[in-house]
Amino acid sequence: MAKSPETEHPLKAVGWATRDASGVFSPFKFSRRATGEHDVQFKVLYCGVCHSDLHMAKNEWGFSQYPLVPGHEIVGEVTEVGSKVEKVKVGDKVGVGCLVGSCRQCDQCTNDLENYCSKAILTYGAVYTDATITYGGYSNLMVADEHFIVRWPENFPLDTGAPLLCAGITTYSPLRYFGLDKPGMNIGIVGLGGLGHVAVKFAKAFGTKVTVISTSINKKKEAIEKLGADLFLVSRDPEEMKAAAGTLDGIIDTVSAHHPILPLLSLLKPHGKMVLVGAPEKPLELPAFPLLTGRKLIAGSAIGGLKETQEMIDFAAKHNILPDVEIIPIDYINTAMDRLGKSDVKYRFVIDIAKSLKAE
Ligand code: NAP
Ligand code: ZN
Repeated sequence: MAKSPETEHPLKAVGWATRDASGVFSPFKFSRRATGEHDVQFKVLYCGVCHSDLHMAKNEWGFSQYPLVPGHEIVGEVTEVGSKVEKVKVGDKVGVGCLVGSCRQCDQCTNDLENYCSKAILTYGAVYTDATITYGGYSNLMVADEHFIVRWPENFPLDTGAPLLCAGITTYSPLRYFGLDKPGMNIGIVGLGGLGHVAVKFAKAFGTKVTVISTSINKKKEAIEKLGADLFLVSRDPEEMKAAAGTLDGIIDTVSAHHPILPLLSLLKPHGKMVLVGAPEKPLELPAFPLLTGRKLIAGSAIGGLKETQEMIDFAAKHNILPDVEIIPIDYINTAMDRLGKSDVKYRFVIDIAKSLKAE
């Protein structure tokens, strides 16, 4: 008989899980593997709440497995390391993002692009190499292979910094890869949520001029005064959008729901690049003409490899780039998910795991 999540491994763990596509969270007892020779075990201190957690909790992408313990913006303190671990030691602060495994041999893996490995293993809701299901950071304890551990910079805040492990790398990577990081460029960021507000901060740190394109007029003042955006367009205001046509070198689209692409493509200059990082559950409509006439490019991007994730965290620490967060206890998660679904968070929920989730 197959073992239960509570008994399949030796280490006791507690977390919060959804049991079905209703997406309602409740406490969940499970277990973690013993620390293997290449593994790092750590006590989870904080975990960010990504919109992907909400998509997955409600099975909006159609591949969720229940019980589901989300969380892939995980930071904590190392409590045990395997005999062959070199990267960190007990007491160090560490992070785990969206990945806990990959084949380590393919072209993608050997080029530090584990995120594009066809055998990449997601931090939660995936099948690990030992055939058990992975559980994420809405839990008190993590065990992960050291290759997928990020070293936390000294004196860099853990609570506000946690969202960088997904929101940070997902926006940093395409800005770099597509060359949208050159000082003086005009960059548009669509959707001012968890990913979007971090994208604004990185784009500003690279010296670009940033236009936020948002459905929420009430985010305008803060976007300009606090986040440092240069311009703010209300995407549902056709006049405003028309006036800004042909002004942008690149766009990072972080929108989590179905939305029209045509008005966004119109904002690009000829040869402009639009990168989708948001993952709406339904396909977007792609009009050909605005792409052809300006030789514009539309692309996608998913998180980043481990080397680039470490580079991004070190860059953020050096330039003091920190997400704006609302810290919550774990038993607020159902309300937090409702609010996230309504874009009612400035700009990322982070769960204070150490304070609010006690092992029994
Ligand atoms: P979020 O905090 O909810 O932000 C999404 C933003 O999109 C909202 O704040 C809102 O901004 C805008 N928006 C929401 N509904 C909209 C609609 N119907 N029309 C137009 N705009 C709308 O979510 P997030 O955590 O940043 O994640 C964003 C998306 O990226 C999700 O789909 C997530 O799964 C995906 N994601 C992808 C990767 C990757 O590797 N590619 C990694 C992480 C997350 P305004 O109020 O400003 O309009
Ligand atoms: Zn995420």
